[in-house]
Amino acid sequence: MKDSTRLMNLEVVGHEHEPLVQPIYQTSLFRMPSYQTAVSTEHQVHPTSYYTRWGNPTVSYLENQISLLMHKDKSLIFPSGMSAITTTLLALARPGDVVAIASSLYGDTTRFFLEDFTQWGGVVKVFDPADAQSLEAIARSCRLTLVYYEALSNPDLKAIDLPGLSRVCTAHRLISICDSTFVPPYMRQSQAQLADIVIMSLTKYAGGHYSVFGGSLSCSSDLQEKIWHTQSLLGAAIDPNAAWNISQGLKTLELRLERQSRSALQIARSLQRHAKVESVIYPLLEGYAHAHLTAAYLNHGGAVVSFLIKGGTADVATFLESTRVAGLSVSLGGIHSCIEHAEAMSHSMLKAMDDQVLLGSCAEQPDKALIRLSVGIEDVHDLESDLLNALDTL
Ligand code: PLP
Repeated sequence: MKDSTRLMNLEVVGHEHEPLVQPIYQTSLFRMPSYQTAVSTEHQVHPTSYYTRWGNPTVSYLENQISLLMHKDKSLIFPSGMSAITTTLLALARPGDVVAIASSLYGDTTRFFLEDFTQWGGVVKVFDPADAQSLEAIARSCRLTLVYYEALSNPDLKAIDLPGLSRVCTAHRLISICDSTFVPPYMRQSQAQLADIVIMSLTKYAGGHYSVFGGSLSCSSDLQEKIWHTQSLLGAAIDPNAAWNISQGLKTLELRLERQSRSALQIARSLQRHAKVESVIYPLLEGYAHAHLTAAYLNHGGAVVSFLIKGGTADVATFLESTRVAGLSVSLGGIHSCIEHAEAMSHSMLKAMDDQVLLGSCAEQPDKALIRLSVGIEDVHDLESDLLNALDTL
């Protein structure tokens, strides 16, 4: 045989070893030991070693990690959080189906529901997730099938009435979907079940280092099978290298989250005391409006602190350009502190929407002057003086 042929057939090294870390199976393809195995694998749901768009051992390892942490039977991994969200809705909803969405959601999620999902024939109703009665009213008035909310809303950190929403969903046999990006594992009380399907953008806390994109969902085996079929058809498969990167990040999530939450609370308190700060929103801060709701499911406050500076939007740009430790960046949950202006950055897509659609829907837009800070793992005193010095310049 020629070298070129032998090179293609060189055996993979490592079968006989037991690596401590899940290896990266950076391959799109697996060789089948027999024709019979190939034919039977073609009929399997989510085979792990056949064709990477259908499954991959490195991706399966990450799925297992996520299922363990989410206390769910099964998980699926996606190339981004948005991919997990859109694939789930495409898999579960049919034209004419009514979906109730929470009034405050990540900007692209709101836009997806109000623009794209409705173009496919879905009907969207908006409810207040802190008030289960508002969901009950929708469930009584139409044939609702799915309910969608965020465990803590982006960017205004609104909480959900978890027991109330669960009661309504059970009574009306609704499938609940919760985006738990702002409440990753360890931040949630471990037994609190947020919904039938729990989605996360792994780009945030789980990856943790701002080096990778990913998304996940966790649910029962039945729902996973159904959604996997749509996932494979849409080609929403993560690259094994990205899955591995997130898998490593997850191992330090608990340590990072504890430190970030401790620092975030300290910073929320100092911001609240500063003369230039109008108000601060943080789940564990004294005076937080939804403390009676988060007691049912939160363990930690998390990394995100949202606040308003006095005088509205006039000083926002000056303030954001004055911080040195906190970088002007749009993401959250990772080890670097990031600060952003929600209306102009993470939620700017709402401004691009048709006013009729947005305003007619009752979906909320962030306060024009709202600043979202995500606290990293830098020394808390350095970060605190950075923010306070920037406020002093105003
Ligand atoms: N859900 C929430 C709450 C988010 O904040 C984001 C992104 O910021 C997403 C979903 C989308 O995640 P990704 O950027 O990984 O697609």
